[in-house]
Amino acid sequence: MQPYNNQQIKIYNSLTGKKEIFEPINNGYVGMYVCGPTVYSNVHLGNVRTFMSFDMVFRYLKHLGYKVRYVRNITDAGHLENDADVGEDKITKKARLEEIEPMEIVQRYTVDFHNVVATFNLLPPSIEPTATGHIIEQIELISSIIDNGFAYEVNGSVYFDVHKYNETNDYGILSKRKLEDLIHNTRALDGQSDKKNPQDFALWKKAEPTHIMRWPSPWSDGFPGWHLECTAMSTKYLGEQFDIHGGGMDLKFPHHECEIAQNKAAKGQDPVKYWMHANMLELNGSRMSKSSGNYINPAELLSGKNDIMSKAYSPSVIRFFMMQAAYRSVLDLTDTGLLASEKGFNRLMNAVDDLQNLKTSNTSSFDVKEWKQACYNAMNDDFNTPILIANLFEAVTQINAIKEGSVTITKEDLDTFKTAIHVFVFELLGLKNVQESEEGTNKLSGAVELLIKLRQEARANKDFALSDKIRDELAEVGITLNDSREGTTFSTN
Ligand code: AMP
Ligand code: ZN
Repeated sequence: MQPYNNQQIKIYNSLTGKKEIFEPINNGYVGMYVCGPTVYSNVHLGNVRTFMSFDMVFRYLKHLGYKVRYVRNITDAGHLENDADVGEDKITKKARLEEIEPMEIVQRYTVDFHNVVATFNLLPPSIEPTATGHIIEQIELISSIIDNGFAYEVNGSVYFDVHKYNETNDYGILSKRKLEDLIHNTRALDGQSDKKNPQDFALWKKAEPTHIMRWPSPWSDGFPGWHLECTAMSTKYLGEQFDIHGGGMDLKFPHHECEIAQNKAAKGQDPVKYWMHANMLELNGSRMSKSSGNYINPAELLSGKNDIMSKAYSPSVIRFFMMQAAYRSVLDLTDTGLLASEKGFNRLMNAVDDLQNLKTSNTSSFDVKEWKQACYNAMNDDFNTPILIANLFEAVTQINAIKEGSVTITKEDLDTFKTAIHVFVFELLGLKNVQESEEGTNKLSGAVELLIKLRQEARANKDFALSDKIRDELAEVGITLNDSREGTTFSTN
């Protein structure tokens, strides 16, 4: 198979623990599934990091010319507070606390999620299916797993029989755990559970009378287990075999391990060719998470209204900060780190601006093609964005040298250079030249201030017709003048 666009990607496959040459199942097409958010609260920046990592992967694959079907689900039912299948459904609990319908919670936080990912310039996935929209598919899967002898029903609930499965399969293949160790490390059941063994997990839970989110099934009125939705939706939209399955590192066990077990038990195979796991964002040296209270929300970081950071940061600076770490490395969110990224980002954007006005020569003393391939090599090496950014800073050095005249570039090379910078900075890293828009805002302020001054002069000359004309025509284009004793200010709407 020919590498696409002459670029050969290597992906670190969590299943094998190796970087492997990426060869999609169907030449030219890529199917990618990423576990989406559980929409019971506002997403925090840790969640954003994982989705941003896969957005970058999506962007690169698309850039190389693959036809990518990217499926990222919305978990709107079935995710219990506790991995041991006890506790309340996260969404139902929030609905009870806020005294509203579970679906109002789902709607509110799905909207929030979409706003946040749009703010950080994440591209929408090709399909965004929901767990509640795929109950029938999940029931069918459970029936197959029961028929194949890997699940059992007790009192209206259905559990996956991990011990039975492990006799002929390897439960722990992804997370590199051994069932014996799991048995050793889990507490014995307290007699309250219907499970045969504590390692078994729920495929279907019978709903208590107070549980609002419930659906009819052959076993009871109830709801599906959390791991099941991803098995059902990934194979429904991407087929019995697909290329990439991604998610945060914390989902490797039990969520993804259970997905593999469910697929093998139902259909005899793990459909996933490359398992990818994005590493965690930390705050104060430990993992950012809602449940521990150690988190910061995007809105708090963007507005500067928080006790942790010294100032507000723009979405592109935050995105740049995240892209400066490899997706498989842990990243600590700190003020010092963000300040450094902001400085670097501004340097890069200044150079991008300067690139437009560079003088060309008859010869090039800078090898643009070699530099461009170095950028591709970084991305080909398991999406190594920090190395890509190091190459972009090399480009900044060259741009400054061309500006000063110590390095030369031909017109043709400059065109290649401009296109490549555009591709890597905006298309692949997903940054926006916010400096440009700040500059735009400054220019607008200057122009309006001038009009305010002219209006004051008109009024001083008792030319009220002109003064009103300035006010009214500004209002027509959405700029309101506010007169007060201190003077005139303006606002835009
Ligand atoms: P959840 O809404 O809890 O299901 O999480 C949504 C996604 O965010 C999952 O892929 C998690 O692995 C990921 N995630 C949760 N916490 C963090 C974190 N601190 N850093 C990076 N990703 C995270
Ligand atoms: Zn999932």
